[in-house]
Amino acid sequence: MDMAFMYVCVWTLCAFVLTWTVLYITNWKKKATELEDAVVEEKNDGAADVIIVGAGVGGSALAYALAKDGRRVHVIERDMREPERMLGELMQPGGRLMLSKLGLQDCLEEIDAQKATGMALYKDGKETVATFPMDNNSFPYEPSARTFHNGRFVQRLRHKASSLHNVRLEEGTVKSLIEEKGVIKGVAYRNKAGEETTAFAALTVVCDGCYSNLRRSLNGNNAKVLSYQVGYISKNCRLEEPERLHLIMAKPSYAMLFQISSTDVRCGFELLPDNIPSISNGEMVNFVKNTIAPQLPLKLRKIFLKGIDEGAHIKMAPNKSMGATLSENKGVIVLGDAFNMRHPVVASGMMVLLSDILILRRLLQPLSNLGDANKVSEVIKSFYVIRKPMSATVNIIGNAFSQVLIASRDEAKEAMRQCCYDYLSSGGFRTSGVMALLGGMNPRPLSLMYHLFAMTLSSIGHLLSPFPSPLRIWHSLRLFDVTEGVSQMFFPANAAAYRKSYMAATTI
Ligand SMILES: Cc1cc2nc3c(=O)[nH]c(=O)nc-3n(C[C@H](O)[C@H](O)[C@H](O)COP(=O)(O)OP(=O)(O)OC[C@H]3O[C@@H](n4cnc5c(N)ncnc54)[C@H](O)[C@@H]3O)c2cc1C
Repeated sequence: MDMAFMYVCVWTLCAFVLTWTVLYITNWKKKATELEDAVVEEKNDGAADVIIVGAGVGGSALAYALAKDGRRVHVIERDMREPERMLGELMQPGGRLMLSKLGLQDCLEEIDAQKATGMALYKDGKETVATFPMDNNSFPYEPSARTFHNGRFVQRLRHKASSLHNVRLEEGTVKSLIEEKGVIKGVAYRNKAGEETTAFAALTVVCDGCYSNLRRSLNGNNAKVLSYQVGYISKNCRLEEPERLHLIMAKPSYAMLFQISSTDVRCGFELLPDNIPSISNGEMVNFVKNTIAPQLPLKLRKIFLKGIDEGAHIKMAPNKSMGATLSENKGVIVLGDAFNMRHPVVASGMMVLLSDILILRRLLQPLSNLGDANKVSEVIKSFYVIRKPMSATVNIIGNAFSQVLIASRDEAKEAMRQCCYDYLSSGGFRTSGVMALLGGMNPRPLSLMYHLFAMTLSSIGHLLSPFPSPLRIWHSLRLFDVTEGVSQMFFPANAAAYRKSYMAATTI
């Protein structure tokens, strides 16, 4: 064997060993990566993209919307039974439009919901009727509200959301949020079996209502109690005009009646914090009989007293107000009453919430993966700006309307109260304009500014007639303070900001 042949053999062997080694290592790495991928897959498999805390109106509607976009949603709700609550019993026409945009309009069916075409307003023995405008071309939906038992509606929403295969609706109470370096990674909760457990997702949505505990750990936002809502249900009766929300401008504040099913009437009134009779010792029953009921028109009084006479369960809930504040943490968003509240007299909380859900859903749609906390955080910041026109309009009108409904010895406030009644009685574009605002059919800041300004001017005219004494001029000037929110809106920078964000909202 010559040397040349030996070299060829040795080099061939080396090349073979080298090639085999390289191939072996490459294959091993590939297998390892595949194995790793499989482990990650397995880890992510049961996990959701989004965790939602609370399956009330907001949590259930959001779960449905996000699941329709292909997200895996895990909803944790502490009580799956039908809630028995004295709130969220009127869906404005604007809210119904939002529901239909989310594909949830059928949740108002089969719950014996009643149609409401407007409101009857009563003051000092007079009555006026203001209906939602029928000829509002810019409102593409049937212009009437629906009234119902809130619990029935919530159950329909829960059922609709959990009918989707990618929604997991679990009973459990969330105790805390799990945070890592400023990013919320999931929640710690107690499940139905009583076990303490955890769940993780790229995005956590806190939608646990007006008594939210989790909100405080995120933005420290505190709600202000404005007054109290007292109410009960008069059963087996029907109002003479069941399609109207009956609102009585009484003392100390408003009383109201509306049909919430074909046989049940919601009766209620507002109390100010300095005057709360006790429910437990019977003072409240006496207060209803002796103070509130005598102020109601006869046609409503009998039904108002029916519930009291039959021992209906009287409930009391705080009317709260809370501005929206963003959380500094990433990977989390707060929605619904845990995020933003306004006086409930305008019955618009659910409408604003559904509008928020629509906006948030559309902003999240382009993100195929919610795992990028920075991108999600940018979306949440845009959401906060885009929601402003609708929420600010509703919040300001709620604030202004609630104030004019409170009886007062203050001449300026009484003038505003009277003018509010006269304005709504005047018919034509004034009445339809205010009703379009209240019904969420035209939630434009400019329209709100126009009507508040017109009402304020007409109150000034009322105060200054028949002749403008210095005291009357002083009361007139104070009117801009009385209608809190008016001055805010007339401030040029605010007006420009509203306009800008409104343009943004309409182009989304
Ligand atoms: C007196 C009153 C009357 C109102 N009337 C109207 C009206 O007529 N029309 C209208 O549009 N709006 C009305 N509102 C406002 C409206 O009710 C709310 O805006 C709306 O219900 C808010 O929905 P949400 O999903 O944020 O909260 P909710 O519907 O209250 O849902 C919160 C859910 O979270 C659950 N939860 C709470 N904590 C936890 C936890 N730790 N773990 C798991 N689950 C939890 C609760 O059980 C609940 O199911 C009214 C408000 C008040 C106070």
